Amino acid sequence: MKIKTKLNLGVGLLFLLIFILTLVSAYYIFLIKNDTGNILKANYNTLEYSRNMLLSLDEIAFNENKAIAVFEINLKKQEANITEVNEDILTKKLESNFNLLKQNKSAEKIKAQIRQNIFEIMRLNMNAIKIKSDIAKHTAETANLWIAVVGTLCFLIAFNLLINLPNNIANPIKELTASIKEIANKNYSERVNFWHHNEFGDLAKSFNTMAEKLQEYHNSNLYKLSFEKKRLETLINNMHDPIIGLDNQGVILFINDQALKIIGMKQEDVLGKLAANLALTNDLMKSLIISESDNSKAHPMKIFADAKESYFEKEMVNITIKPTGEDESISIGNVIILRNITVFKELDFAKTNFIATVSHELKTPISSIKMSLQLLENKTTGILNEEQKHLIESIKDDSQRLLKITGELLELSQLETGNIQLNIEKSNPYEIVHYATEAVKVKAEQKQIEISIDAETDLPNVKADAEKTSWVLINFLTNAITYSPENSEIVVKLKQIDKQIIFQVIDSGKGIDSRYKTKVFDKYFQIPGSNKSGTGLGLAISKEFIEAQNGTINVESELGLGSTFSISLNIV
Ligand code: ADP
Repeated sequence: MKIKTKLNLGVGLLFLLIFILTLVSAYYIFLIKNDTGNILKANYNTLEYSRNMLLSLDEIAFNENKAIAVFEINLKKQEANITEVNEDILTKKLESNFNLLKQNKSAEKIKAQIRQNIFEIMRLNMNAIKIKSDIAKHTAETANLWIAVVGTLCFLIAFNLLINLPNNIANPIKELTASIKEIANKNYSERVNFWHHNEFGDLAKSFNTMAEKLQEYHNSNLYKLSFEKKRLETLINNMHDPIIGLDNQGVILFINDQALKIIGMKQEDVLGKLAANLALTNDLMKSLIISESDNSKAHPMKIFADAKESYFEKEMVNITIKPTGEDESISIGNVIILRNITVFKELDFAKTNFIATVSHELKTPISSIKMSLQLLENKTTGILNEEQKHLIESIKDDSQRLLKITGELLELSQLETGNIQLNIEKSNPYEIVHYATEAVKVKAEQKQIEISIDAETDLPNVKADAEKTSWVLINFLTNAITYSPENSEIVVKLKQIDKQIIFQVIDSGKGIDSRYKTKVFDKYFQIPGSNKSGTGLGLAISKEFIEAQNGTINVESELGLGSTFSISLNIV
């Protein structure tokens, strides 16, 4: 039964019973009131008249006229108040006796007769009073009974409502509240179990449907998420490069098998741990978590992996996401990727060895060609005609260039294999500049280029390998001459800034496009359209030489306005 119907029935019945109770009570009170009113009106008055008549009868002896008058009045009232059976006959008898008394006022016998009549009337009425009071009593008892029956029914219904109704309403609400809390705590398997055919039954059905749909939705999402997670894990694991994922606090979130292999640890010992803590006992981990600013990308890491010395290039990628509805991206961690460049390194070594061997093997025959040319130029060998001299000059140029190229290639291969020997000692900067300018003097004169030196006085010595530094300056000057127009000027500046000596070669040549400024120090790089006879190695070797001496190398240039190449070396 519906709660609403239940409530309507219960409370309605209660109202009906209270109404009946009121009606029954009113009815019986009315009956009792009628009964007592009857007694008063019909019998009590008769007794009153009778008493008055008896008194006036006794008065006749003393005040005859007044007593007769009073008697007559009460007799008249009695005649008008006949209520009982036979009362009229007795009253008639009394009246005839009273008429007789009026004619013979001293007749005692008649007086006795009258008294007898009055007493009979009184007895008749007193009997009637008793009967009527019995009836009133009976009415009161019936009233009691009915009121008790209806009252008990009211009580029983009210008691039943009091006991059952609150529980009927509160229990399902309690159960429902508990279930809603469970759902809120993500326990989507929760169901409510009241199946009454009322409003709560409907509510339970709706709730269970909702919970089922939530569970279905949750499960499908969970499945999708775990599937995606598995896919990502498999993908990361199958990658040939070691990968480690860290959160913002440096806790390791994921690590693939390759990474585990090179750090020599088990997954359970690594996952969820702070990388900084692991770095205390694992040197490789320590070098992995060092931040990018240490230029670790520039120097590949040498790690023993795959049963041989392998080379890895470290890349630390900061992962950022844009939370839904927000404009700013936030960082959620880092991924360390170690790119395995062993194959390229091996190829590089092979190439370097090849270059070293070839340039070394070429150097000797080229030198002997140069020597033979010198012998040919010597008059004792024979007189040459103009055309032969011209040919010899051109062979000399080419062999000079070949010697320069093989020299640079040899230097480079020595640098790459780490075989370079630096002789760093106290060196005089003026001497280095002088040596370099002298070396390129002839070349400059060929283009009518003037090389001037602008040097501060009393500069201290520098910590440098004088030979290599001169080589670098010669390279700067050769380039400056090559890329400057004829009849121009090249300035070599020498100055001190703080604890460093700066060597500058300033030309007013064609300059360098800003796009290429950082690239000119790369190996084999030549600006498109520049002197094809070069190798693109000079500046790369210069950079290696200077950095090996703890110095810095730099270029400032503007297209069309000339370039300034500079190196700075520490003073002693
Ligand atoms: P190369 O042997 O080819 O000259 P370098 O490493 O010495 O190789 O120079 C690299 C490139 O830088 C050159 O190809 C040239 O284009 C550019 N370059 C070097 N010096 C100058 C300069 N003074 N003026 C303009 N361009 C220059």
